[in-house]
This record gives sequence, structure tokens and C-alpha cells, in this order.
Amino acid sequence: MKIVEKIGVMQRLVQRARKSGRRIGFVPTMGYLHAGHMSLVAEARRRVGAKGLVVVSIYVNPTQFAPTEDLEKYPRNLERDRRLCRTAGVDVLFLPSDADMYPGRAAGHYSTYVVEECLSQGMEGACRTTHFRGVTTVVAKLFNCVLPDVTVFGAKDWQQAAVVRRMVADLNFPIEMVVAPTHREADGLAMSSRNAYLSAQERRQATVLWRVLVEARALVRRSANGVAAGSLKKTLAKRVAAEPDARLDYIECFDTGTLVPVGRVRRGTHVALAVYIGKTRLIDNAVL
Ligand code: AMP
Repeated sequence: MKIVEKIGVMQRLVQRARKSGRRIGFVPTMGYLHAGHMSLVAEARRRVGAKGLVVVSIYVNPTQFAPTEDLEKYPRNLERDRRLCRTAGVDVLFLPSDADMYPGRAAGHYSTYVVEECLSQGMEGACRTTHFRGVTTVVAKLFNCVLPDVTVFGAKDWQQAAVVRRMVADLNFPIEMVVAPTHREADGLAMSSRNAYLSAQERRQATVLWRVLVEARALVRRSANGVAAGSLKKTLAKRVAAEPDARLDYIECFDTGTLVPVGRVRRGTHVALAVYIGKTRLIDNAVL
């Protein structure tokens, strides 16, 4: 496995691989890798084949964190990440620096951003107003560094995947976008680097996100005409409130493709929620 830190080196490496007929598969991450990330790596490998080049980036992107968020304390363990990637058969681990990704930003001279103006407005975008601008900007930049044929994102961040898919289409990136299923712990908790913040007591309560989604699915499947979104959201919010350290940030029922909120929730409607467990903000979603 090659470790590449410089953007120019990364670009030359993939251009050479491409010339020799290899397909490039790319999984962007913020590191502190877990089995969810590695399932995206496996999917990237399936897509590009044994001869393809699988690239994983680890970059904790400052522009998608608000000043009040956890950029500084975001969990990091490069040694372990490196081992996991090597074992999973990753070909290139790309570790760009802040100085190369955002030249001049520390001195206030960085000024180009990519903004998706529709799908990024609700849910995560409403709660974290500069978040998706940071995401689309860094993903566009990473695409220009790695020049992939195919990129794999996780369904765990459903809105993010939708926003990036729209950006790929709108900006004509010649990249196939794949969204792979959410990987979960045995008790249903979606794997996340941020789960590392949870105390034992919080970890037990954190399963409420999955329990809420399972309950929503059962309620919808039991009713022939669907259920009113307002009353479903109220019922589910009560489940969250029953956990002593949980605080609901939002819960939304929406069309799985357009992300537009629906009035009636039926089979195939998507539900997403964000919940603070203590100080840790967790998100999850599922199609019902
Ligand atoms: P992150 O490192 O959290 O920015 O995530 C990098 C990529 O991994 C994103 O496309 C996420 O959606 C995806 N991802 C994170 N957690 C999971 C999970 N539990 N299952 C599948 N994909 C995931």
C-alpha cells in the first residue's frame, strides 16, 4: 500500500494507473476507520476489479465543521487506520494536509467553494448551516486529486450522498457514484467514528436511533394507507425523550430521492434523525 501526502504526487500516480488501463475506485473518509468504512472499500474493489486501483483518503475537513463543533477533538488513529487499509487491500492511502487542501486559508486567502443549493437545505443543512458547503467543496477537491472512475459513499449519511450525487451530475464529473448500505453493530447502532465519544451508559441509550427507525417501519407496514408524518414524528420523538441523556435535534420523513418532506408516510418513505446523546451528535436513517 502506497501512502501519498502530496496532491501532485496523487494526481500523477492515478494518471499513470489510468494510462495502463486500471480503473480507479475512491472512498473518501475522515479516518478513525471502522467496519462501515471497510465495507465501502470492499465495494470499491468489487467495482474496479482485482487490477483496479482502490484509493482511500483520510482528511478531517475543517470547512465542514462549524466553530462550535468537534474538529479539534475528532478521533484520530492513523496507525490503526493504516493497518486496516493495508489488511483490506487498499492500494493507496491519500493523506493530504490542510496547507495543500486549502492553500492560504490560514491567512484568509482561500476563496473558492462549491455549493449545492437545493438538497443541502433541510435536515443536516438546516442544523449545520455551513456543513454541506464544506462537504461539496472538499469532495470536489478530492475528486480532482484522485480522478476516480467510481466513488463509494455510505447510506449512513443519506443526505450527504444525495447532495454529492447531485453535485456530480450538475458539475459533470465523469464519476460513477455508488451508495453502499449502512453497517451496524449487533444491536443496530450505526457504526460511526463518533461512537467513540460515548460512555457505557450513553452507548446503551444510543440504540434509540435504530429502535425508532425499526418502530417507524413496523407502524408503516401495519397501516394500509400510511400514517400522518406529524403524528409519527411525535410518537418517535417521545421514544427519544424517554432516554435520559438523549435530545432530539430533528426527525424528518421525506422522499428518498428528492429529500422533500412528505405529509403521509408509507412504505418506501425515508426517515432520518439526529439525536444528541450527551454531547455526542449521532445521525441515522432508513427507508421504511
Ligand atoms: P466519515 O469518515 O464519517 O466522513 O465517513 C466516510 C464515508 O463512510 C461516508 O461516505 C459515510 O457515509 C461512510 N460511512 C460512515 N459510517 C458508515 C456505516 N456505518 N456504514 C456504511 N458507511 C458508513
